Amino acid sequence: MTRTEDLPVLIVGAGPTGLTAAVELARLGVGVRIIDKAPAPSSTSRALGIQARTLELLRPRGIADELLSLGNPVRATALHAGGQRLGGIEFGTMASEFDYILMLAQSETERLLAEHAAALGVTVERGVEFVGLDQGDDVRVVVRDQDGHSGTIAASYVIAADGSHSPVRKALGLPFEGRSLPQDYVLGDVRLSGDLPDDQLSIFLAANGFLAVFPMGGDRFRFMATDPEGITGDAAEPTLADVQALYDRTVHVPARCHDLAWSSRFRINSRHMTTLRSGRVFFGGDAAHVHSPAGGQGMNAGIQDMINLSWKLAMVLRGSARPELLDTYGSDRLPVIRQLVAMTERATKAFNSTNPVVHGLLVRAVPKLVRRNRVQVVAAPRLGQIAASYRGAPLARGGGRLGALRAGDRVPDLRLPEGRLYDLLDPVSPTLLVDGADELRRVCELWTGVLPVRSVTLPDAMAAGPAWLLVRPDGYLAAAGGPADGRRLGRWLEHWLQPAGAEVAAPAPR
Ligand SMILES: Cc1cc2nc3c(=O)[nH]c(=O)nc-3n(C[C@H](O)[C@H](O)[C@H](O)COP(=O)(O)OP(=O)(O)OC[C@H]3O[C@@H](n4cnc5c(N)ncnc54)[C@H](O)[C@@H]3O)c2cc1C
Repeated sequence: MTRTEDLPVLIVGAGPTGLTAAVELARLGVGVRIIDKAPAPSSTSRALGIQARTLELLRPRGIADELLSLGNPVRATALHAGGQRLGGIEFGTMASEFDYILMLAQSETERLLAEHAAALGVTVERGVEFVGLDQGDDVRVVVRDQDGHSGTIAASYVIAADGSHSPVRKALGLPFEGRSLPQDYVLGDVRLSGDLPDDQLSIFLAANGFLAVFPMGGDRFRFMATDPEGITGDAAEPTLADVQALYDRTVHVPARCHDLAWSSRFRINSRHMTTLRSGRVFFGGDAAHVHSPAGGQGMNAGIQDMINLSWKLAMVLRGSARPELLDTYGSDRLPVIRQLVAMTERATKAFNSTNPVVHGLLVRAVPKLVRRNRVQVVAAPRLGQIAASYRGAPLARGGGRLGALRAGDRVPDLRLPEGRLYDLLDPVSPTLLVDGADELRRVCELWTGVLPVRSVTLPDAMAAGPAWLLVRPDGYLAAAGGPADGRRLGRWLEHWLQPAGAEVAAPAPR
């Protein structure tokens, strides 16, 4: 294995997080290599739920259509207990064209991402293991191949997407704060003969353990259950009879499970890093945060980590942004991650409780809660991750607002007369969308070559008069205002970007 000179980015780990970084960086023209110690891709289903926000971001990247053609859309989550439907959360209330959760085996999502990376010229280097690193003006990563040969890969930056046990995180001695939850979970992918809906996620609550059923399309379903009474023993791979026993224990709809394709047992960790950067190394996905699978959030968070980081790396490597922009990866994502870990931990505790009093309270509270419009309006966008915002983060400070939209918020992918809003965005740099605010042209002249500008016609609901929006490549609002707010735009650009031809200071390792 040889040392690579002038490699901008090395990605360690080719799960969904690392593969997203590979696709995104290659698409932005950044030289990248991706290594994985596993000799072959994993074939197991693991994370099934692809959320609305992930689909919104993957659509303009040309990946959503294939995912949609393979996956099964789930339009609601229904909660049951004691043979009754307590209520549910309808995803149709979400203000997104993807108003559902798409169920697709993680192995398929990874396959599509790997194919896209390969089409962009990046192939996963398999059987190559990260064993150590050393940082200075670049990062020198020591790797070992399957024959035991060692080598070094030097890169300007490293993305650690090497999963929850992250050898990179361990090599740097960084903490992974949080805890392990006590319960064991059983997973099983089966075919099912019975009358369970295939377009909704069904959760059956009981004091002696819950069972969630995720429809994977056709008669294929994923079961996830707790087993506090130990009826399935402790084999690492529960049997078909075990899965059937858990089903019969909890679900009032008679059904027969067959064709067990995969089963597993796992324990939930609820942890996250307190920083996503160490010098020239950035952490994302399970390497940086792990939590309960409640709500199918984990893989989506990893994909969105990388879409947040990639344009920032691309701009700094090109010299069109100040190096400080790289710190905003952590300041954007960490609050979102903390919220995610807390939300999934709360949901897990409520569903898992074997205390009959807590279970009784839950069963009485759920119908009242889900009937409230406010719960519907809040819960679905949270699960779909379209409610996540970077408001208040340094990159949004002083960015102003336009109507209800504040700097840091997700900008909806509107259908404008000029085209889909996300299709108008530059892939690397924030794009200035201008609706009649011609006074801004003077500010823009200073940023020729760095700041793409597009004339658009915004809907009245967003702006009644002339207005502008500075939208980041990941679809979040950087800044906004009216014709008189040119100085606000100028301040944002001066703070974060680097005019074309300006001398760029080398990013200082921290
Ligand atoms: C049994 C199981 C069930 C799950 N179910 C769900 C679910 O229902 N919903 C959900 O949201 N999530 C679920 N998850 C979690 C989900 O799979 C993860 O959130 C997701 O895989 C994270 O992606 P990642 O790319 O960050 O990490 P990973 O997918 O873990 O990928 C990390 C990659 O790094 C590689 N690697 C590790 N060490 C090295 C090294 N030293 N050198 C080179 N490469 C290395 C690994 O081989 C691996 O390919 C489940 C996970 C498991 C294991």
